This record gives sequence, structure tokens and C-alpha cells, in this order.
Amino acid sequence: MLRKKRRAEQLTEARAMQERRRAWTSQRESDRELNASTSQGPSVLQHEPHHQPRPEQQRHSEPEPELTVPQTLEEPQPSTSRGDTSLVIPYHPPRTPSSSEEDAEPTRSEKKLALFPEPHADDVANIKRTIVDLTQIEEIVADLRCHHCLSDNGLAMETPIRFGFAIKLVIICRNCGETLSSKFTSARNLNSVSTPKPFVINEAATMSSLLAGMGPYSFRNFCEYMELPGVHPKTFNKIAKRLYSQNEVLGEEVFTQAAGLVRQEHIRQYHLAVEENSLLDIAVSYDGSWLTRGHKSLIGIGCVIDVLTGLIIDGHVLSLYCHIWARTGAWIKRETPQRYDRWFQEHLDSGDCTVNFAGSSGMMEVRIAEVLWGRSIQRYNLRYTTIVSDGDSKSFNRLLELQPYGSDVLITKEDCINHVGKRLGAALRNLVADCSKRGITFGGRGYGRLTAETIRKLQIYYTRGFEVMGQQRR
Ligand SMILES: [Zn+2]
Ligand SMILES: [Zn+2]
Repeated sequence: MLRKKRRAEQLTEARAMQERRRAWTSQRESDRELNASTSQGPSVLQHEPHHQPRPEQQRHSEPEPELTVPQTLEEPQPSTSRGDTSLVIPYHPPRTPSSSEEDAEPTRSEKKLALFPEPHADDVANIKRTIVDLTQIEEIVADLRCHHCLSDNGLAMETPIRFGFAIKLVIICRNCGETLSSKFTSARNLNSVSTPKPFVINEAATMSSLLAGMGPYSFRNFCEYMELPGVHPKTFNKIAKRLYSQNEVLGEEVFTQAAGLVRQEHIRQYHLAVEENSLLDIAVSYDGSWLTRGHKSLIGIGCVIDVLTGLIIDGHVLSLYCHIWARTGAWIKRETPQRYDRWFQEHLDSGDCTVNFAGSSGMMEVRIAEVLWGRSIQRYNLRYTTIVSDGDSKSFNRLLELQPYGSDVLITKEDCINHVGKRLGAALRNLVADCSKRGITFGGRGYGRLTAETIRKLQIYYTRGFEVMGQQRR
């Protein structure tokens, strides 16, 4: 019962966070449109694990793309807190371009965003937070008059206490000494499960810092340079832990919502005559990524993306790294080895350990596929029966072995046509480079020669050809 209540509370909090994030995302999207030259930001996962000791056992043979997020988070626009907003989101069909804008084909992101409701414009217009120079506020209140003694001596401001960014402002009459008002500079998060209720500003700052790729120490540096009071690294970690557990709940909500949209779109676009909640077979693209390059990443992620809509419907993270183990554990092992075994057992029992995988980084992708395929029916009543792959078939082969949907449901693999096209282009370019070393040119020296531009065009024709074939087959 208590668990249920706690979960409901977490959900409310998570929803408020989602609202906030949606406002940002829309802001980011519009920023990106304005500013075509986007830069890649730092990685977003926690713990800044670039400098950490690595377990030796991992080996792996393919390049690992770094997990990055586009970094245009300029000024996170706060939203008004609307904790009661329902997550049931009305469905907006994809926008069809009017005749005047027919030339401008909507981008992939625009198409995906069109599936979701528009964010509220008033969120961005109302600035509710800013960084304040307190001496300015002091000057403002010095000009005010005491309503108690009506003296013109002005009012004074005191700041007797602070919690992170939240500072208590006390307004006192310089003449009669009466306390006229006192308030913290931030509200408390009344939806929070923890006591005392945390200040909204501290949670928002922690979340923003994590989203921007800053851990507790980078964040403390930022605050020091800005002469801001900041949040102690211990508090930062405590808040981060709480936010992560909320985000897990939120993540499930978002994925479920996306899977629902995927179902609707499949039924609509393929004119399927099926029951609302019946089992549906879909084609997905599956790919894994890692936090760091170089085959030894400690954190890996895998995502299932619906091919029709391009929406991510499920994902899973595997970690070989545990911050507590790497710091406290290593210290105990070094200083008091006789206590280590007991400590380690307690650590595992506490549920705080973030390690959820044993094996090489390369095998993470395969393991994640097992997890995601294993829960697709239970979560969404979907079967990922076609997998569009980038050429790497380790995960696919494992799924063939595993038969997650039973022996009579076959999972098939289709190569991503973009990758097929890329392979053609690469092969032709290699051939040209090879032959030119030996003095051979294709198609002579004049018109019709196999130039880089011709190869690019061939690559496009080839890819388009597959697309057309695919459409006709449907
Ligand atoms: Zn007074
Ligand atoms: Zn651990």
C-alpha cells in the first residue's frame, strides 16, 4: 500500500519534470532551426566516468560511438509548475503541409514531434527564475517604507540561512526593528517523497547540470566562478539519485506512450483490421551505443526504434561501473582488507550497486537485445519480428538462438538501405582510388567519367531504388 502511494507520488513528480523537459525540448528544437550549426556537447551520463579505473576483462572489436547529446541547452525556460497535468495526451495526426509550404519537406524530427502535442507557448514567455545580485534587492527594499511605524528610514534585508541555492530573505524595519516579511528564494517541492521537502531550485539545478553533462564537481566549479552558493557534492548526489529513480518511472511512461502512438500509426497507415490491444508485429531498428570509445566502455545503451515512425519505444542501459564500489570499496580494500568482504556483501544487499552486467563491452548490445525482445509482449503487446540492422549481426544471431516469441515466430533481418547504399559508395570509391594508383580511369577523361560526384549520385539512386521496391512490396 505504502509502496503504491510512494510510486504514485514519484509519478506526480516525474510528470512535472516531464512537463519541464518538454518545454525545453521545444525550445531546443526551435533553437536548432534558428541555428543550423549545432555543436556536439559532452556526454550526458552520470559520474563523469572518463578517468575511472577499468576492469581488465573487456575486449571488443568494433568502433564504439561516443554517446553524445546535441548541446543547445542555452537557457532552460522554467515552466509554471503544473503537477496536476494529466499524462493522457491527445493524439495529433502528422501535419500535412499546405500548398504554400509543399517544397519544404518536414524533417525527421519534425515528423516525430508532430506525433506529440504542442508545448504550451506561455511556458517560455513567463520567466519565473533568474540569477539575482542580492545587493540590488537590498537597494530596492532600502527604498521601501515600513507599514508598521511608517518611518522613512527604509528597510533592511538579512539572509540568516540557506540550503543550497535557496536563501531565506528576512525584511526588517530599520526604525522599529519589526520583521515585516520572511521567505525562501525558492519554493519547496511539495510532491517530493522526502522530508523535509527539498527546494525546487536545488532539484532543477542538479537535473540541469546532469543534462548538460556536469557532475557534482564541475557543477561546484561553475558555481564558484559565478559566485553562487551552490550545492554540496553530497547533496548533489543525493538529489541526483532521487531524480534518477523518478526518471525510471518517467522513462517507462514515455516509452509506453510512444509504443501506443506506434500502434496507432501502424493500424492507421497499414489499414490493419485488428483489435485495439491485439498482438502486433512491427519492424524495428536496433542499435547499441557506448559512453566512451575504444572497446572498453563501462556503460552501454541499446534502443529499439520503430521503423515506421522513427520513435524509440524501448531502451536499456548496462553498466560495468559502480561509483561506490570504485571509491569506497577500493578504499576499504586498501585500508582495512579484513572488513572488505562484509562491506561488499552489505553493498550488494543495499541495492545501491549500479553494476548490472558481467562481460565485455561488445556483448552489452547482445545482452540488451535479449532484455528488450524479452519484454516486448509483456510491456506493449508488440513483437519485433523484423530487425533492420547496420550490418552487425551478433544481436540478430543471438535472437535467432533465443527465439523470444517461440519457435514458430521467425525474426527476420533486413539491412538498412542507407548502409547498403553507403557500402556501394565506399566500394566504388575504393575501386577508383585503387585503379587511379595504377593509372586507370573509369569512363575516360571527359564526360561520363566516374567522379566522386557520380558515385554520390549512384549511391542515392541505389538507395532510392530499394525504397521504391519496399513501397511497392507493401
Ligand atoms: Zn518600522
Ligand atoms: Zn556497487
